[in-house]
Order: sequence, then structure tokens, then C-alpha cells
Amino acid sequence: MNLPFAESFKTKMVEPIRKSTRKEREKWIKEAKYNLFNLKSNQVFIDLLTDSGTGAMSDRQWSEMMLGDESYAGASSYYKLKNAIKEITGFDYFLPTHQGRAAENVLFSVLVKDGDLVPGNSHFDTTKGHIEFRKATAIDCTIDEAFDTIIKHPFKGNLDLVKLETVLKSNPVKKIPLIIVTVTCNSSGGQPVSMQNLKDVKNLADKYGIKVIFDSARFAENAYFIKKREKGYENKTIKEIVKEMFSYADGMTMSSKKDAIVNMGGFIGFREEELFKQASVFNIMFEGFITYGGMSGRDMNALAQGLYEGTEFDYLETRVEQVAYLGKKLDEYGVSVLKPFGGHAIFIDAKRFLPHLPKEEFVAQTLAVELYLEGGVRAVEIGAIMADRDPVSRKNRFPELELIRMAIPRRVYSNNHMDYVAACCANVMERSAEIKTGVKIQKEAPILRHFTVELERI
Ligand SMILES: *Cc1c(COP(=O)(O)O)cnc(C)c1O
Repeated sequence: MNLPFAESFKTKMVEPIRKSTRKEREKWIKEAKYNLFNLKSNQVFIDLLTDSGTGAMSDRQWSEMMLGDESYAGASSYYKLKNAIKEITGFDYFLPTHQGRAAENVLFSVLVKDGDLVPGNSHFDTTKGHIEFRKATAIDCTIDEAFDTIIKHPFKGNLDLVKLETVLKSNPVKKIPLIIVTVTCNSSGGQPVSMQNLKDVKNLADKYGIKVIFDSARFAENAYFIKKREKGYENKTIKEIVKEMFSYADGMTMSSKKDAIVNMGGFIGFREEELFKQASVFNIMFEGFITYGGMSGRDMNALAQGLYEGTEFDYLETRVEQVAYLGKKLDEYGVSVLKPFGGHAIFIDAKRFLPHLPKEEFVAQTLAVELYLEGGVRAVEIGAIMADRDPVSRKNRFPELELIRMAIPRRVYSNNHMDYVAACCANVMERSAEIKTGVKIQKEAPILRHFTVELERI
């Protein structure tokens, strides 16, 4: 018989978690103004808010923590990380930052100016935030298939080359400082970008003399999908695939809290010394000296180790297959989930779940609240609240997809937890016709409002 799938790790330390009653949860979510970011973590049983910084470090990463060099300048931890980045990505220059958005802030301080255009594939919210904060515009050039939750396309993160070239052709090149390719594409559901598409985007960018920067938070999961789905890569190692992917970029921003399996950290990778030097000025201003940039030595050590572990096939298989396990369970229960399953998360199509709710009542947010009430499961809305208002008209933006994302922390939960989550979703679906009204906004911030928005039930 074929041997069944089993995790590529065993448990050495545990953290107890607590169930709660529906009555408690009703009180807590009301106090949290129906914003799941406002819940205390001990009010949550299974926390799928994000896979960012929530992973379990390995025994090797923890032992690296003890070897951290906390020298202000030129620490050995910096060089350890520099070597790991060079070995894994091929980039000669790098700057540590405290997390991914800090990398964006530093790099965009050099590259992005008022009135610029930044094309890419469904920019992540902080990326878009940092672009719009500089009065520039993010232009989404993702392929149309990405917006259909049912269509099976192996690389729904791909950029549409026609859309991209239209932007490049119809605007002055000096208004387009960079193209951002997000691997995997978080905002369109953790969907991968194919190697062919990375290559094509780079060729097109080169034709116009525009830089390509990878927003690389989940580059290793992207490589896993290339190995599984793209012809010619089935026999290559993840590390070989990763190297080739980055050969089609001029630089990268990284949220190390994702595929580098650390709880905090980020960096920027550069091919050219000149850009590195310009960015160094902003790094020193915003993050810290160039050999630590907001990270302690021990954290840089754990990150270096995490980059090696995060690009191992066995680890990635365990990770991505667990996400798919949850997806398949939900599918069996008839819950409408985005397909193919993403690398880090399962996305429920809230419009199909609650078809009777008008978009003005924030469909996905309503569903996320209901899921919490059902079983203490915390997911996150990726819909109209996260889409923010249009920076010019200040009107609510209503994206084509209203999703709730259930992101799976790395090496944290078992498949029993996945079964529990799937059962919660099935129960909410069973009573979905009784959910007659959604939520409305009481208070909101001018940008990235989803983190702090205050809501009430209609
Ligand atoms: C998480 C993430 C970021 C931002 O990184 P932080 O570490 O959260 O600041 C940027 N881009 C993508 C694709 C991400 O997933």
C-alpha cells in the first residue's frame, strides 16, 4: 500500500490553547467592535488570522538564537544572514529591516515619487499603502482568471503581459520606477506565479528599462508550486528553482515572518550596489545601521537558518499539503473555496456563502464574525474593508472578490485542528440563511483601515 502523508517534524514543546463558550464569544466580539484584530489571543481557540510571524521555529533556529552576535556594527549574525541570502536568492547586497513593510518603506523612499505608476499583480495591502502614501498609483495587471474563484488555472498569480505592456507603452517610462511581482500572490489567494511568467515579465521590463522587484514573502511556496505544476521543473530542487526565480528580479523585499519561519524580521535584496547605497541612507534613518536594520543579532541568525529550512522540499510539502487538507475538507462540505488551493491559506468566497447580503454590509467581514462566534476560529476579511476607500474620491472600493482568509501558521496546528475549523464553517453554512444583515462602519482610519476599524451589527 502507498504510505500515507505524514508531517516532516515531531513536537518538542507545546502551548495550551483554550476553548470558550458561544456566550463568551458574543460578549468578546462585541467589545472588539466586530473587528477580529481587536480580540485578545486567549479569546481565540484556533487562530488563522495570519501566517505572518506565527510559525513555530525549529530546534535549530532556537539554537541559532543562542549564537546571536549583538555587536552594533559588523556582527557575525549579519554576515551569516548575508551568506544565506546570497546562497538562496543570489543577491549580492541586502539590508535587514524589522519586517516586510519596513523593507517597502525603505526601498520605495528611493524609487517611488508623487505621480508614479507601479504595475504589479494584486499588490499586497501594505505595498499598496506605501505606494499610495507617496501619492503614486498601484496598477493591478493580474490575469483575469485570478478573479474567478472556480476556474482551475495552475498559476493564478501570473501577470497579464498585455495589460502590463499597455501600462508600459501608454505612460512615460520615467513615471514607472518599478514593477512589483508578488510571489505567491497573497491578495489573489496565495496563488503562484509561473517561472515562464517571471521570465516574460523580466524580458518586457528590460525592453523598457524598468526594474522588477519581487515582493517575496512566500517565494518558497511559489517554488514548490512551480516544481509541482510547471513542466521542466519536476526534478529540480526547491533551492534550484528559487535561484532561477530570483534571477528574473533586480531586487526583492521580504517579510521574513512568512517563508523564513521567524516571528519578526525582513530584508531588501539588491543586485546593484548603487540602489543598495541609496536605500542604505533611508535604512539608517528608519530602521537602524545597515548591519542590523531593526533586527537583533539572534533574530538574524534564526532568520538565516529559517531561509535554509523554508526551502526544503519536505518542509514545504508538509506545509502546503496541510493547507490543501483543509481546502479539501471544506470542499467536501460544499463550502465555496477558492481553487486551486493557495500555498498559505484557504479562502472562502463570502459572496457565494451569503449571496443575499448587499456588498455595502461588508459580506466577508460578516462571515468572519460568524465563524468566530461558531467555534472561536479567527479568520480575516479580504474584501471591501481591506480594500479601503479610493484615495482621491474617498468612496468605498468594492473589490470583485469578497473573501475570508484562513491562513495556516507554519508547523503549529495539527490536521485535527483543520477538521475542527472545517466543521465550524459547515455549521455556519447550514444556518447562513438566518444571517440576514451585515455590519456597518462606526470609525475608521484614513489608510489601512481594516486593522483598527470599529463596526456595529446592522
Ligand atoms: C506580509 C506581507 C507583506 C508585509 O510584510 P510585514 O512583515 O507584515 O510588514 C508584504 N507583502 C506580502 C506579499 C506579504 O504577504
